[in-house]
Amino acid sequence: MMRLANKVAIVTGAAGGMGKADAVLFAKEGAKVVITDLQEEKLNEAVQEIVDNGGEAIGIKHNVTSEEDWIRVVEETISRFGKIDILVNNAGISNATPMLEMTVEQWDKTMSINVTGTFLGQKHVIPHMINNGGGSIVNISSIAGLTGGSGAGAYTASKGAVRLLTKATAVDFAKHNIRVNSVHPGYIKTPMTVELMADEKMKAWFLSQSPLPRLGEAEDIAKGVLFLASDESSYITGIELPIDGGYYA
Ligand code: NAD
Repeated sequence: MMRLANKVAIVTGAAGGMGKADAVLFAKEGAKVVITDLQEEKLNEAVQEIVDNGGEAIGIKHNVTSEEDWIRVVEETISRFGKIDILVNNAGISNATPMLEMTVEQWDKTMSINVTGTFLGQKHVIPHMINNGGGSIVNISSIAGLTGGSGAGAYTASKGAVRLLTKATAVDFAKHNIRVNSVHPGYIKTPMTVELMADEKMKAWFLSQSPLPRLGEAEDIAKGVLFLASDESSYITGIELPIDGGYYA
């Protein structure tokens, strides 16, 4: 039995990286997948890849900071697939600007995409999950949302906010059988980190942070997201799941 048979999932920021890996795995497990991103061309390629492998997917251009866009994404999902069982708030940006050099615009942009985008997704999807008798939301935070790492204050604050927004939402909506959990990736090879990982010194440093002696892949994250999205985790809500090779151990 496929683990997401008959489920409908929205995954944001899914044109590449972890979001795409989530969507590909969800489709393999039987879900109908709505993938969204700002990058339309890469989004279309991701949809094509899923369809070519026998999955069902549509792509919607979407800015997660726009409430109008969220209303449209939810309407299109309901009109095409009739319900929403799973939401993965994955879209995000990094920001390594040192605190004293950071502009208010940079700070606001990080908060807007990483935190407001997650809030808006929950706000517009949860009413449909309530009507549908439940659902599972997985919010992608970071190890930066668990510890106060150096040199990334806005990113760390935004991912910490995602972690606690997750817990608050889990408590509020448990009575509707809606589960809400956060995933905290370590250093993962994706387009977000490709430049950093190309630098051998940085790569060696990343490796030195991971007790398991390798860097993480997007697929490592997708397996954890699948578990939290599926009914296999039906008594788990409000938790944070680090997937980080043991960094946070
Ligand atoms: P990525 O850059 O490959 O993916 C992020 C996607 O989000 C991109 O496709 C981008 O176009 C999209 N996006 C950015 N702003 C958007 C917006 N306003 N509206 C819609 N889409 C938008 O990076 P990734 O590594 O796959 O990151 C996925 C998530 O994992 C992010 O939330 C990131 O913060 C988090 N994360 C990544 C790492 C890592 O090491 N790569 C570690 C911890 C957490």
